Amino acid sequence: MAIVGGIHGDEPSGVRAVREVLDSSTNLQRPIQLVVANPPAIASHRRYIDADMNRVFPGDPASEDRERRLAAALLKSISDCGVVLSLHSTHSYDDPIALVSRSHPEVQALAARLPVSHVVDQTPCFEGAFATSAPVLTIEAGRTRTEEATENARQIVEAFLQLVDALPGEPVETDSTYYTMTEAVSTQPDANYDLLVDNFEVVEPGTTVARSDRGEYVADTSFVPILMSETGYDDILGYKGAVAGETLSSARNAWGVSPTPRN
Ligand SMILES: [Zn+2]
Repeated sequence: MAIVGGIHGDEPSGVRAVREVLDSSTNLQRPIQLVVANPPAIASHRRYIDADMNRVFPGDPASEDRERRLAAALLKSISDCGVVLSLHSTHSYDDPIALVSRSHPEVQALAARLPVSHVVDQTPCFEGAFATSAPVLTIEAGRTRTEEATENARQIVEAFLQLVDALPGEPVETDSTYYTMTEAVSTQPDANYDLLVDNFEVVEPGTTVARSDRGEYVADTSFVPILMSETGYDDILGYKGAVAGETLSSARNAWGVSPTPRN
């Protein structure tokens, strides 16, 4: 098992949570690999240096882009690991969100037992993400650079370590809703947006979702906003999604996946 923080250099909560596990590692009951993924970006408080690391997997050890080399090195270092917990933070939401992919039922099963209210299948929307190249459970811990995000990351790490039998105890049971991310919502270059809807609250057709100096974006169909924010991304507002179910098994039906049988 592995825990990774700092794929994005401007998201310090995950790095702090990883360092705290290191400081207390004498308590761990099994080996856990701890990774700080992009030290140059973290040192310069930037999302990335040459390329967004979470869009360039599987990377390339011979690339001129630092993040492509780091992505290849990260995949190599976790190749013997089971599920990898990857910690991020957002500009869009206070509470932790779990992102899973359709091809990793073991990741979905762990996400279902973490104390998170929202579990999102990101399969159609995250090309080049870490999770497309390995069994990665991505956590958006909360709002970037808040003490709450760091505290959420700590709690998720503790729950993850309990679920993989590295720490005693069980996480608190939490009711989760499952979603499918369906598409990104593009923004106009250099426009400033006011976001007028809340993430995970269903938007009805005809609702004004966002307003900019260049006009309004009005919903033409119903959807659930996911990771939408005014400042989180350069070229998109965030993502549209739909509810997939209130239990993991109903969500798996919607996703068209069956869990891998275990021997
Ligand atoms: Zn991130």
